[in-house]
Amino acid sequence: MKITPRLSLILAASAFTGAPAFATPFSVSDAPGRLPKNVIPESYSVTVEPDAAAMTIKGRESIVLQVRSATTTIQFNSLNETLSDVRLDGKAVLKVASDDDAQLTTVTIASPVTVGTHTLSFSYAGKIETQPHGLFAQPYVSPDGKQGVLLTTQMESTDARRMFPCWDEPAFRAKFRLSATVPAEWSLVSNMPVVKRVVKAKLATTTFEATPRMPSYLVELTAGEIAEISAKNEGIDFGVWAVKGREKEGAIALANVQTILADYNDYFGYKFPLPKLDSIAIPGGFQGAMENWGAITYNDQLLLLSAASSIKNRQEAYSVQAHEMAHQWNGDLVTMAWWDDIWLNESFASWMAAKETDRRHPDWKWWEDQDADKEDAMGADARATSHSIQQHVTNELQAANSFDPQITYSKGQAILRMFEAYLGPDVFRDGIREYIKAFAFSNATTSNLWNALSAASKQDIGAIVAGWTEQAGFPLVSVAASCDATGVRTITLSQQRFLLQGIDAANSSWKVPLQIRAGADAAPQAVLLTQDKQSAPAGRCDEPLSVNAGALGFYRTHYDAATLATDTKNFGMLKDTDRIALLDDQWALVESGVDTLPTYLALAGAMGKDVDTRAWHQIAHALASIEYDERGSPGHEAFAAYARNVLRPPFEQLGWSAKADETPDVQDLRQTLIQELGSLGDEGVIDEARKRFAAFVKDHSAIPPDYQASILKIVAQYADAATFEQLRAVAAAAKDETEFRRYYSALMAVRDPALAKEATEIALSPQIPAQADALRLELIAQLAGEHQQLSWQVFRDNNERLLKPFAFDGPLIVAQYLPQAYWSGIPAAEIEAWVRAHVPKEMGPNVDRGMETVRFRLAEKDRLVRAADAFDHQ
Ligand SMILES: [Zn+2]
Repeated sequence: MKITPRLSLILAASAFTGAPAFATPFSVSDAPGRLPKNVIPESYSVTVEPDAAAMTIKGRESIVLQVRSATTTIQFNSLNETLSDVRLDGKAVLKVASDDDAQLTTVTIASPVTVGTHTLSFSYAGKIETQPHGLFAQPYVSPDGKQGVLLTTQMESTDARRMFPCWDEPAFRAKFRLSATVPAEWSLVSNMPVVKRVVKAKLATTTFEATPRMPSYLVELTAGEIAEISAKNEGIDFGVWAVKGREKEGAIALANVQTILADYNDYFGYKFPLPKLDSIAIPGGFQGAMENWGAITYNDQLLLLSAASSIKNRQEAYSVQAHEMAHQWNGDLVTMAWWDDIWLNESFASWMAAKETDRRHPDWKWWEDQDADKEDAMGADARATSHSIQQHVTNELQAANSFDPQITYSKGQAILRMFEAYLGPDVFRDGIREYIKAFAFSNATTSNLWNALSAASKQDIGAIVAGWTEQAGFPLVSVAASCDATGVRTITLSQQRFLLQGIDAANSSWKVPLQIRAGADAAPQAVLLTQDKQSAPAGRCDEPLSVNAGALGFYRTHYDAATLATDTKNFGMLKDTDRIALLDDQWALVESGVDTLPTYLALAGAMGKDVDTRAWHQIAHALASIEYDERGSPGHEAFAAYARNVLRPPFEQLGWSAKADETPDVQDLRQTLIQELGSLGDEGVIDEARKRFAAFVKDHSAIPPDYQASILKIVAQYADAATFEQLRAVAAAAKDETEFRRYYSALMAVRDPALAKEATEIALSPQIPAQADALRLELIAQLAGEHQQLSWQVFRDNNERLLKPFAFDGPLIVAQYLPQAYWSGIPAAEIEAWVRAHVPKEMGPNVDRGMETVRFRLAEKDRLVRAADAFDHQ
């Protein structure tokens, strides 16, 4: 049977019966959740007086409620709060019981409350937190060296209840009117503009406009000695806020936010509905960024850019802004009904951010860069213990754990991209527009999104996509080619779940949207793989073939030996994306033992002097991984020499110095090659790095910011005590978190064991200021690469302190990611015992994932060392 792309769409469409009623309005009664649905908040008036010295909150709250069935109890969330003077419609209630274990307050009223509108009011006493949970205090050192503290909030997922008692589940949308009383010299930012400010002696009370109906996890309040730069564009007020003295470093962010907003107004077909949008740089504190509606908070190094910032810092700022701003629609305007659909927020924002970053910065080759994240996600999802994108969530811990960066973010992003390509970008966008319009100021579920896309595309998209979001893993598509007498090729396709090890007991299968390109330059043909042994035409047998053209798919491909040989022979002619897909897949096939190491190394060797950045990143990663495994084996030096020989041609092509017309990805490639060659012991590179460092010590402008990380890292790797001291002095003089991160990270590359010990002491010392506290864990983890025992020991001895800044995702980090850092030097049983003893019991599945990777890496090492030793390096 011959399937053309158009026909495959028609075939799929013919199975689809009727347009779905995707616009059925959302009802709060349908949402999962723990709170009863008989009493619904309509609007809150919250007045807080935080005392930063005493770390307490005095609050007063009045909530307009809709009572939907007569009741004598009203239940809502609270944590660490004491309520007093509790009244319903002005009359004292019978009883108030707060239970911090259940995070609930139950109010009992003497006679049943009638159906209709009522007002609950109370005073309360609460706590300012020291970690990013609810309203928290963030100490910092200001640019002029003064100690300061600012108050800010992080509510997602379930911490608004720590600042004020509330219905703290995403389906309970309500209006919030906030007032705060703080020192008069402080400035404040919240979701909405200020309507009133009253100064009384040393204190000022600021009242903000009421928000539109929104979930409690999006409430924001920041207060302190902060200042802004601002702009007005198409009626919206934009501000970028930072600790006073640093606000000017927000200039690029202020330009970005206006560009992105205009692009999104257009894409979503729905204008940003608030009168203002602030971006707030928080020193240290919580990591990452939070999409509070109208008042997005960022870790300061993600938002502020100075002369010390590299192109990577600028790229990260743009893409993180694009992510948080996508949430202003997908997350804030339309919110998932419950936390099991958090992927609707996160996958969508990640995909949209990549699309927007690529659109505005085509020379960053952003989708190629994102391929690294996709590979990371595929590595995680190739574990037998992986989980589906959509996950059941019943409590607060599970809600926090559902933000899995590899699956919820990167896999979800890749799946959306794959289906955007399958439906076509215009049809996909039309579906998104309908979804946003239908559910604005409301909540939605995954099926609402599929229904909107189905209506736009006139095919049952849910039936095709469900396999990708509701089951774990992804397929390995096997391709067997046959040629007729005239050389015309037909391929037969089959699939099975791709696992790095083990077998798929569930016998999973997917509807796979393939993009088949026969010949190096032909346009790809879309084919939906739905049946075992499905066949498709595929050009001529002497032409190269890709069934994942554009590297758009979240699946792997295993070509038969003859097809792979043709692709290897024509490797130089392939499009960059198709070469990347082939390198990614062939390496994964070697890792899983399906194919042999020489099949991959033949592709790497065929790159020659070509300078495609992502392809070389992939190769450098694979070679570094084998070299790491080879350490201590007799074949190590021969393999390192081989790897240097593979990496030298592109480096010789690029040289040390940037050329005027170079794109950022080429500069990025140069740094990668410098760093990898240095790491592999290339004498020429090491000597030159030392020379450049000597000049840098006298004058920091001798190495541009983009090249500092790689050059300093090489110097640290081979440092003696005197050089180490110079590196330490450079780090101690760092001015902001961008520099702290770059210089202290370089120090951790040190190979000398005695100096490594010193490095751990630095990582724990007050030399690193309070606002960079979160960096310490990263530094100790970086040392694990070269010094497993030392790093493990230091981590265990200081784990509480190192993990303290990771209040939100700490348990996930320990359970799922920590084991993978210590696989090569610490016995698996020892890691597992420690980890299981230090995370809540119900995180067992996360520990299983971390440990599966440990056991896989051990088995893989054994295989790779034997294969590399047997490989003819000539
Ligand atoms: Zn997000």
